[in-house]
This record gives sequence, C-alpha cells and structure tokens, in this order.
Amino acid sequence: MKILLVEPGRLAQRLVRAMLEAAGHTVVAEGHGLHALDTLRADASVDVLLTSFELPGMPGMELCWHARLLSRSGRPPLYLIAMSSSLDDAHVAEALDAGADDFVFKPPSVIELTARLRAAERLLHAQRALIEQATTDAMTGLPNRRQLLENARRMPGAALALLDIDHFKAVNDTHGHEAGDAVLVAVARLLLHQPCFAARLGGEEFALLLPGPDQAEPRMEQLRQDIAALRVPLRSGTELAVTVSIGIAPPRYDAGMDQLLREADLALYAAKRAGRDRVVLAEPSMEPAEQPQARHVRSGSRQAEPIM
Ligand code: GH3
Ligand code: MG
Ligand code: MG
Repeated sequence: MKILLVEPGRLAQRLVRAMLEAAGHTVVAEGHGLHALDTLRADASVDVLLTSFELPGMPGMELCWHARLLSRSGRPPLYLIAMSSSLDDAHVAEALDAGADDFVFKPPSVIELTARLRAAERLLHAQRALIEQATTDAMTGLPNRRQLLENARRMPGAALALLDIDHFKAVNDTHGHEAGDAVLVAVARLLLHQPCFAARLGGEEFALLLPGPDQAEPRMEQLRQDIAALRVPLRSGTELAVTVSIGIAPPRYDAGMDQLLREADLALYAAKRAGRDRVVLAEPSMEPAEQPQARHVRSGSRQAEPIM
C-alpha cells in the first residue's frame, strides 16, 4: 500500500518508515500538517494516512477531519490511523471521533502496526469492491448511471449523447435473451474504446459525455456507422446486425444534468420518430416541453417506421 506517514520527529519518522518499508509498503513522509494535507489532495494513490497527533501547522486530529472530508468527496478510499504517545483514553476517543479508523500508541511495535495495516488492507479492498459494484454495470463493464452523473459534474462543458439500440425487443423476441445480451456486450465494447466517457444507463440505452462539443455530431455519426457495421456472432452460427438512434444535447452551462438528459432524450425521440438509425442534434434553445428542432438529421438507408 502507499502510506502517507506524518511524523514531525526525525528519529521517530525514520523508525516508522523503516518498519513500513520492511513490510513492503511505499512510504511518503511529511513532518508538517498542512504539507501533509497538500500531499493528500494532490495524490489520490495514497491508501493510508498514518498521522501523529502532535504536529506543527495543523493538529493531527484536524488533519484526520480534512482527510475524512476529502475521502467523502469522490476520492478513492483512504484509511486513517492516528498515532499518539499519550496514554489518555480521551485522546483515543477524540481521534476516532475526528474520523480516524484506528489508533496506535507511539512508538508502535512492528507486529502491531503491520497487523493493523493488514486490517486496513482488508477494509480498503472491501470498500473498493463495493464502489466498483455500485458504479459499474456488471454485464458490460461500462460505468453506470450513477457514475455518469458523478462524471458529468466534473465535465461542465461536455455535450451529452443518448444512444438507444433500435428494435432491440425484436432481437430478444427473435433470437432469444442471450443474443440480446451478446449485442449489448458488443455495442458496449465499442463504446469502451471511444475517447470519451461512456456509460450504460439501463436496458439498451447508453450515454456519452463528449468534451469537444463541436465534434460531438460527427463523432456520433461515426459511432452510428461503426455500430451498424458490427456483426455479432450468435451461438446458432448466424451473425446479427443492429442499428442505433442517437440524440445529442449541446453543453448548457446554465442547466444541470437533468436538463441535458431531457434535451438529449427529446432529440433521441426525434431520431426514433424520423425512422431510427440516425443522429439528431437538439437545439440548445428549445423549451423543455417542446419537441426538438432537428438541426441536422443524418440517416442510414432505413425507412421510417412507426414508433413502438
Ligand atoms: P426502439 O427502437 O423504439 O428503441 O424499440 P426497442 O424494441 O429497442 O425498445 P423497447 O423499449 O420496446 O424494448 C427494449 C427491450 O430491451 C425490452 C427489454 O426486455 C430489453 N432489455 C432490457 N435490458 C436487457 C438486457 O439486459 N438484456 C436483454 N437481452 N434485453 C434487455
Ligand atoms: Mg431501443
Ligand atoms: Mg430504450
């Protein structure tokens, strides 16, 4: 694990660092509370903060508080261990209440410290697995809706594209659910290789966050063509082709993700209504209740079909 050791005493720092490194951990050492917080902010790969209580700049307890806040705001899981030479049990309680996961007396024994770090590793592993489950679609491996919303917050200038497989129910009905799943996995694999963030929203609907809004439409048109060119091999030996409809909402700095999703959804609806297998760009100015005015509608060769 990568451990940020915060200990102002040079001798104590050297001693604990040696223990940690002998146990196979990577150590970054700081002697000042504020510097330690800067390091934590800058380095998301730190797994464990092992901090002394008595620190210049910022007390260890306050550092625990800030570190806990950091780990609640989307940072990968962080395990906090407070260290103190004080035998006062009120001190221990204070550390745990400030957000520390564990407490060790200073100087710690090698056996105790390494055992506590093994416990930390187990907990971090379980936390990462839970986060993975909560943010990833198990079948396709794509991020899910939750992660899309999280990422959208960090990409305020991105356009949003919604992509829906055409007549997917017919794929299931004609070839079976397993064939439907194979199609979803094949489409998802293509999306995974797009140079942008792509997620599965549910069913046969996907979303993409496109950072270069000017390029959004040509890129989605290319994606539409690439998906139409896919041939998904089925167990029966046949190959299946599918088409998709895509609705794009241009970035809106004045609107939240709900609005962007609504606009992209209206554009997608327009693409379906116009015959599917096409990309429709919604007008940024359109009213939420209105149907989008299609600025450009590009189509494949398929004829318009009634919406189901
Ligand atoms: P449209 O062109 O208008 O989008 O029609 P559609 O048939 O694609 O859409 P509809 O909403 O009628 O059907 C979607 C189907 O997707 C129904 C549902 O059973 C199927 N589906 C949803 N999730 C999964 C899945 O994980 N695997 C499979 N095989 N099918 C799924
Ligand atoms: Mg569909
Ligand atoms: Mg759908």
